[in-house]
Amino acid sequence: MSEYPIHIEVLPKVHLVRGKNGAGFPEANTLLIDDEILTLVDAGTSMENITRTLRDLGHELSDIERIILTHFHIDHKGYAAIIQRAADCEMICHPLAEKGVRTFQGMVDYYGMEGRRQYDVWRVFINTSFGHVLGDYNVTGTFEDGKPISCGQTDLFPIHLPGHTLDHTCFGINGYETILLVDIDLTSFGPWYGNEVSDIEDFRRSMERVIEMNPRTGISSHLIDPVTEDLDMRLRAFMRVFGERERRVLDNIASGVDTIEKMSLKPTIYRRIPMELYRAFEMFMLEKHVELLKKKGKIIEEDGHLKIERR
Ligand SMILES: [Zn+2]
Repeated sequence: MSEYPIHIEVLPKVHLVRGKNGAGFPEANTLLIDDEILTLVDAGTSMENITRTLRDLGHELSDIERIILTHFHIDHKGYAAIIQRAADCEMICHPLAEKGVRTFQGMVDYYGMEGRRQYDVWRVFINTSFGHVLGDYNVTGTFEDGKPISCGQTDLFPIHLPGHTLDHTCFGINGYETILLVDIDLTSFGPWYGNEVSDIEDFRRSMERVIEMNPRTGISSHLIDPVTEDLDMRLRAFMRVFGERERRVLDNIASGVDTIEKMSLKPTIYRRIPMELYRAFEMFMLEKHVELLKKKGKIIEEDGHLKIERR
C-alpha cells in the first residue's frame, strides 16, 4: 500500500497518476486526461497504478484512446506498447522521438550504450527490470511543436525542450500556466544528460525558455506533487547545478583528477555510484562537461590528461 494517494486531479479532467517509490526512477508519473478523448501522457508508471486510476474513474485499460509520449526514455514510454495492445489506441510522439521509441535498437542508439564498457550490465538491468521495453512500439503519428492537441475540453500544448534528450517535450495544459515539466524534474539530483542524444547547452536554453514562460505550476515526472510554491526559484536552483558540476570538474582537474575515468570514480556528478550501470551515465555527463569546457577554452587535453587553461 502506498503512503500517498495513487492519483490526484491537478486540473479539471487532468489526473496525475503517481509512480511508486515517490515516482523516482525506475518509475515516473503519468498524466491521465479523462476527457472526450481518454488520453495518457507517458506510460512509465506501474501498470497497477495506471489500472487502479482508470478503475477509480470508471474506465478500463481498453478505453484508452491515445498515448502521448514525452520522450523515448524507458521510464516514460514504459508500458505504452502493452497498453496499446489492450486498447488498440493511437500512440504519438515528437518526430525526433520516433527512432528511440519504435525499436529497442533505436533506443539503444539514442542511449549510446553500444560499445560502452557497461553495456552488458545495462542489458542485464533492462532484461531484469524493463522486459516490457524490449519489443517494438507501434507509433501511429507525431505531434508538432506548439500545435495544440485537443482531448475535448482539455488542450495540450507541446513545447519541445531538448537537452535532457533531443526529443524531450514538455506540455502546457490549457495554456502555459501549468506545464508538465517531464524531466526538468526539479529533483535534488539536478539535470540529467547522460545519453548520446543529451546536450548541456540545449538543456540550459530549454530551462531559460521555461523560466521565461513563468509558469505558475510545474508538474515533474519524478515528484509526486506539482510544484506551485517558489517554482521560479526551484527552476533557477535546478539550473545552477550545471555550474556547480562544471566547477567540480575544474576542481578535479586542478587537483590532479585529470581524466574522465578518474573523475567517474570519485564520483563527480552522482553522489555515489551504487552500481557499475550508473557509471556509464556518470561518464557520459562528464564527457559532455569536458567537451564544453574545451569549447569554452577553459581546459585542454595533453597526452590524455586534462589541464586547466583558464578559469
Ligand atoms: Zn528522461
